[in-house]
Parts: sequence; structure tokens; C-alpha cells
Amino acid sequence: MKYFSALIAALFFLSSSHAETDSPAIESTITESTVSETSSVWDLNDLYPDTASWDKDRNDIAARITTLRECKGKLGSSADMLAQCLSDINNTYKDLLLLYVYAYLARDTDLGNSEYLERASIAQMLLTQMGEATSFVNPELIAIGEEKLNGFLAHTDKLNDYDYYIKKTLHLAPFTLSNDEERILAATFDTMQTPSSVYDVLTNAEMPMPTVTLSDGTDVVLTPSGYSQYRAVDNRDDRKLVFDQFWETYQNYRQTLGLTLEGQVKNDVLMARLRGYDSALQRAQAEDNIPEAVYHALVDTVNEHLDSLHRLVTLRQRVLGIDESHYYDIYPAVIPLERTYTLEETKALTISAFQPLGPNYVNTFTEAVNQNWMHVYPSPGKRSGAYVMGAAYDVHPYMLLNYDNTLESVSTFAHEWGHAMHSLLANRNQPFSKSDYATFIAEIASTANEVLLFEYLKNNAKTDEERLHFLFKELSQLRATFFRQTQFAEFELAIHEHVERGGALSGDKLNSIYGDLLKRYFGHDLGVMTIDEAYTVEWAYVPHFYRNFYVYQYATSISAAYYLMDRVLNDGEEAQQQYLDILRAGGSDYPYEILRRAGVDMASHEVYLAVIRRMNRLMDEAEQILDKQPSKPVEVTKTP
Ligand SMILES: [Zn+2]
Repeated sequence: MKYFSALIAALFFLSSSHAETDSPAIESTITESTVSETSSVWDLNDLYPDTASWDKDRNDIAARITTLRECKGKLGSSADMLAQCLSDINNTYKDLLLLYVYAYLARDTDLGNSEYLERASIAQMLLTQMGEATSFVNPELIAIGEEKLNGFLAHTDKLNDYDYYIKKTLHLAPFTLSNDEERILAATFDTMQTPSSVYDVLTNAEMPMPTVTLSDGTDVVLTPSGYSQYRAVDNRDDRKLVFDQFWETYQNYRQTLGLTLEGQVKNDVLMARLRGYDSALQRAQAEDNIPEAVYHALVDTVNEHLDSLHRLVTLRQRVLGIDESHYYDIYPAVIPLERTYTLEETKALTISAFQPLGPNYVNTFTEAVNQNWMHVYPSPGKRSGAYVMGAAYDVHPYMLLNYDNTLESVSTFAHEWGHAMHSLLANRNQPFSKSDYATFIAEIASTANEVLLFEYLKNNAKTDEERLHFLFKELSQLRATFFRQTQFAEFELAIHEHVERGGALSGDKLNSIYGDLLKRYFGHDLGVMTIDEAYTVEWAYVPHFYRNFYVYQYATSISAAYYLMDRVLNDGEEAQQQYLDILRAGGSDYPYEILRRAGVDMASHEVYLAVIRRMNRLMDEAEQILDKQPSKPVEVTKTP
């Protein structure tokens, strides 16, 4: 069960939008038509030549899943039998994922198509059946025991592809229950999803979102995606209005939203207790064997360097020409840049930007980026956001984008190609059973590409204005990823610990916990930025809190990327190889170990300090440019 749940979870993870840094990732807004070009549409024939072959495969796989049950009770009979069973399970799963990827991708380009929806739900059902049919594997391995399994491993190299899996399973033995108990827990899977399903429907569909009239007379509806667009408008009164109305709506529903989040946290705490963990955090970290010190190194280092975040707020305030900062001032671009990039320009730009990663990476990327692996432009009925699906192991990664020629799209393009390259290199260098990389390292390649992109854009800017734009763009990114996700991580831990101590989480309680953190991060008491009480309901806007300690792994991933790119840009080839080793390692070992071997100790403060150092350097550069510019008349703004 564990074996597959990890991979299935990864699949869902990859399926969500990757514009994840600041806005809710789980959005399924159907975008309106703008552009559509046939040459920019992925070729699903690489998976199946036609739907008839998909249908045929579906029946074959259903039959193969049934056959897998025959391995039950036989795993310990011999090393060869164990190898045969694990290999049958893996091959079936690998083929099932092809089926799934085909259905999933087709559906996401036409969400209203009932034939596609049906195929996706059939694939989903087969995944569930696969999980049930193989739920005996882990308890049986644990019952066989370490000694005998080590004997098997020494006896035959047919088990080589599964040694890490066996090690992982044995490591979790103290927290794995009896066969019957595991079956009961597995049966609760669906009901455990209720808090997040309710949350999704309420916030994406049923909550009446406000309409506001902006100063130019346009009416805009503040859906979550409308909010993320209009909160960044230049007119300060408008963005205050957007904030006030949007958060008022969430405030009106805070008790219901508090109950859904409390439900989720209680589920996490209950599952941890039932399995014998000391805490929900321990359970979340156990599967990938991540030391708890990692969590604290991140949170402590960020807290020790909040002055860098405060410096950014003050610097933005200077450029925005306002005399005090409010929370609604964090989003507008301080230096506008009217520039668009065609897809071909973006390809060329990223190829140049990725040069520091060396010729091997660049050649592989150049070849890959010119294949029909991407669904590039928005079209009617297509899923919003962007993602990479790397689960078609023998085929290639697929990428969904909603490219709109903005710098934002360029950066998403670079980001998603990081995921795609990670999948590609892992799939080419690891057997299927060791190809799927952990969430803990999933955002390294994507963030690394973004760092290199902005480094290149900044160094090749034609004017000071352009350079400032890129500098502030990256700085905003750092605020939204490194600081914000760490703040989320602290919040997530605080609410879990609160429930673990027997406390309850009402909407008001959550406002107060979140508000305290928000104020500390943005220096409310130090006079750096005013956090208005109305906005402390922001916790209710973040779907990631329904994903069991996901956010800290986002912050650690991006920190590792900054640390590694720092080294790649300064130390050259050795650092390059170490970085590529991480990508090639896929899921062949515990993610913390993969990184440690490449010289990145995620439990040390050094990694996180690299992010702070880069941020300070970027601010130094921005200040230098600003200091030599003649001071401009500042925009007169009203103090609310
Ligand atoms: Zn990503």
C-alpha cells in the first residue's frame, strides 16, 4: 500500500498547478480562449496510437491487477519468488501509469469532454484497485523480517531494483500495523478526504465572491484567480479595495473554513497516533526519513534573518513612493516592464540561461524542448496553471502550460522544464522502481532553472530600469517562496501542535495564530509594515494546508536550489556534476541522503543562509542603481 501511495501521491502532487508560489495551487478554473496553435500541442500518440488500444490495455491491466493477488503469502518463500512478485507489481504499475497519464492529459485539455472524464475516472479506479490488490506487500515484508530479507538481497541481484524499497519498508516497520489494521486504515482513505473536498467546493464554487468596481470603472469578480490578478494593481486604493472585499468574504466564512481545516489537522493527528508516531510532523517526515532538525534549521534561520524581509519591504516602499507599507502593498511590481516573449524567444532565452549547467544538460534540454511534449497555449476548457507529468516512464515527460507571452510565462516555462528535466534524467538513469523523486527535492530543479533565468536576464538587461525590474521580480519571488512558505510551515506546525495538546481550532483561533505570525514576519510591531486585522484570515486561502506538511518541503527545496546554483555559478564543473547527480538519482535513496552526498546538508543553517545572502546581494544591486538615479517625484498616495 505504502509502495503505491507514495507514487500516487506524487502523481497528484505533479498534477496540481505549478504557479504554486503564492496563489492557491489547486485551482481548476477553465480559461477562456486566446491563442491556439496545433504545432504547440503535445502528441499523445507517443502513449497510445488510438483510444482502441487504450481500451484494450485497460482490460489487460485490470486482469493483471487481479493476478497480482496471487503473490499474497508467497513473498517469503524464496528470493526468486520475491523478485518475481515485485517485478510483476512494478511492471503492472508502470503500465497502469501510462493508461492514467493518457486519460489525465486528454481530460486536462478539454475538461468538459465526458468521454475524457470517464476515461480518467476509470484510470483512477484502477489505481485504487492496484492499491488494494497490493496492500499485503508491506505487512508481509515486515513479517518476513530484516534478517531474511537481507539474505535474499545478498543471494540474488534480481532484487537490486527493490533494495531501497525494502529498506524503506523495514524502516517504517515500527509504524506499520497488522494486516487487518492496515486494511481498516486503507478503507478510511475516502472519508479522510472530506475536509479538503468540502474546502475545494466551498472556496472554488459555492462561496459568493464579491464584485468590486475599480477606479477606472471596470467591475471585477474576486474569485481566487481574480484576486491574485487584481491585488497587484498599481492604483493603491484599488488594491486596498480588492483586499478588503476579498478577505471580508473569507472572514464571513471563517468558522466553516476553520472546521474544515480543523478536520484535516485532526485527521493528520489521528493517523499519526494510530500508527504510533509521537506527532503529526514525525509521521510526515518518517516516510522519507527526513531529520526533524531540517524543519528547525529552516524555521530558525528564517526567523534570525527577518531583517532581510523587512529591508525588502522598506526598499519597495521607497520605489513605490509611499510613506508607510500595508499588507496590500506587497504584490504590485515596483518597476513595470512592458515586454513580451514569443515561445521561440523563450526557448532561446532559456537555452542561453541554462549554460552554467554544462553542455550535457543544455544539449538534452535543447533536444527535449523542441519535441511535441508541451501543450503550450490556453484554449477553451483547458485546465489553468501549469504542470509536468513525468509518470510515463518509458515515454517522456509531458508539460501543460498556459503560455501568454509575459515574463511570468517565461519564468513558469523555465520552472516546469526543471521538473521535466528532473523526470527525464531520473527516468533515464534509474529503474522504474527508483525513478520517482520525493517531494522534499521536487522543487530543486525547477527553482534552479528560475534562478539561472533571472541571473541571465539581469546580467543581459539593456537598461537600469530593465535590470531593476528583474531584480525586484526575483526578490518578490524570494518573499513569496522562502519567507512565505516558511511562515506557512510555522503555522502548519503550530496548528498541529495545538490539536495534539488537546486544543480546538475555531476560525477566530486560526486568525489569531496566523495573525501573530504574519505580524512577526512583516515587522508589524517594529513599524515595518502594518498588518490589518481583517487580513489575518489569509490562512483560509491556502489549499496546501490540506496536504500534510507540504509547504516546508517547498521552502527547503527552493533553499537547496539557491545553495546549489550559488555553487554552480561560482565553483563550475564540480558543483555542476553534484547538481546533476541529484537529478539523476531520482528516488533511489532517501532525499536527505541524496542531497547530503552532493554536499548539501539540509539540517545545517548554511543552506538557508545562502538564500539570505543572495537576497541581500540583489538588494545591494538594486540600491546601487536607485542611488545613482536622480530622485523622481514620488506618486502621491492617500494613506488609508
Ligand atoms: Zn514546481
